[in-house]
Amino acid sequence: MEFRGRDRREVKRPRGHALANTDSSRYLSHGGGTGASMGIALKLPLTGGCVCGSLRYRVSALPLGVFICHCRNCQQRTGSVYSLSMITWRKDFEAMGETLWRDSPGGSGAMHRQHICPQCLTRTHTEQSAYPNIINVRPGTLDQPNVVTPVAQAWTKEAHRWAIAPNLKGFEENPSDVQELFEEWQAAHS
Ligand SMILES: [Zn+2]
Ligand SMILES: [Zn+2]
Repeated sequence: MEFRGRDRREVKRPRGHALANTDSSRYLSHGGGTGASMGIALKLPLTGGCVCGSLRYRVSALPLGVFICHCRNCQQRTGSVYSLSMITWRKDFEAMGETLWRDSPGGSGAMHRQHICPQCLTRTHTEQSAYPNIINVRPGTLDQPNVVTPVAQAWTKEAHRWAIAPNLKGFEENPSDVQELFEEWQAAHS
């Protein structure tokens, strides 16, 4: 998904206590299990890597959100029906192992730097030149990919109709207010 806030300063700005809080107790409970607004707390760090295991990565703090992108560029790039993006602060992301990277335009034409494992060619993460503080992790490469769920789907106007996730907020193109979606996603994973 193209990562667009209402303006760039807004999406780069660190988000209050949820990101700053490193108290591990926050991630040990499941929020008491009764509050409707409480989600399942992610166990941090999140770890993942490529198919062959030579490229590994770690995400040390709560990401901002996970999105489906149905755009044509994502369909072609993945050879599938959509891509998944886990938007993460760069300061919280660490890759271990070499990556092979290429700069190429994303769906909007903005430049993206795709990182893949030089051995097995798995794509693990992407940088977007317009948002240098952000790493777009490919959550299918997480060791436990089922711990994160998408908050919304973008570019439904280019979607395969059968691939549109039911009961998930959809946007014809990029969502207009990602900040709100970030908050929703973080609440569901804290
Ligand atoms: Zn590999
Ligand atoms: Zn896309």
